[in-house]
Amino acid sequence: MPKLLLVEDEKSIAEGLAITLEAEGFQVAWVKDGLDAIPAWERIRPDLVVLDLMLPGMSGTEICRALRSRSDVPIIMLTAREAEVDRVVGLELGADDYVTKPFSTRELVARIKAGLRRAPLAEQLEDEVPVEASGVRVDRVRHEVEVEGSRVDLPPKEFELLAYLLEHAGRVLTRGQLIDAIWGSDYVGDTKTLDVHIRRLRTRIEPDPHAPVRIQTVRGVGYRFADR
Ligand code: CA
Repeated sequence: MPKLLLVEDEKSIAEGLAITLEAEGFQVAWVKDGLDAIPAWERIRPDLVVLDLMLPGMSGTEICRALRSRSDVPIIMLTAREAEVDRVVGLELGADDYVTKPFSTRELVARIKAGLRRAPLAEQLEDEVPVEASGVRVDRVRHEVEVEGSRVDLPPKEFELLAYLLEHAGRVLTRGQLIDAIWGSDYVGDTKTLDVHIRRLRTRIEPDPHAPVRIQTVRGVGYRFADR
């Protein structure tokens, strides 16, 4: 059940929203004072925050900044006037979306669902989710590689290279892209280093390193990790 934190001082709006959102299957925590917003976020760790701009105690603007310095949680701002929107979404505030008051509950629910759909993607990009393709599985959190279910130990650069290839499985990656990603854009060595690492990786993860099926060479361009 997705957890929402609703920060809104107007009781009539908050209660109506909470009832609708709970009926939609969300777990809703409501705070009405701006000063309670950050402690509530820390306690609840919601999947999304709906944040009113005008609040007693601490403004929605300040709360939004404070949240952004701590988390990538999706934030939908509630603003009273269209004129506030640029300030809220455009500038350094970092809100993900906004809804202008008066708004229909249906519209806000649609925005919340859209915000939640984007959220798991962001988590994946933070490397928390193991990736798997073509019988190879890489778990960055545990720093583990499995090939057909068996653990394989890799040196750090080979691990990074394999993880990066796997995270982009099915896509052709140029030598330049791979070198930037693994060795950094200020790397001054030649691309042979990359080819040597690829060769070593193949001896560890390919059934036949001389006829690779997982790490495929795309002649004149770079490499591609097979996505099946
Ligand atoms: Ca308000």
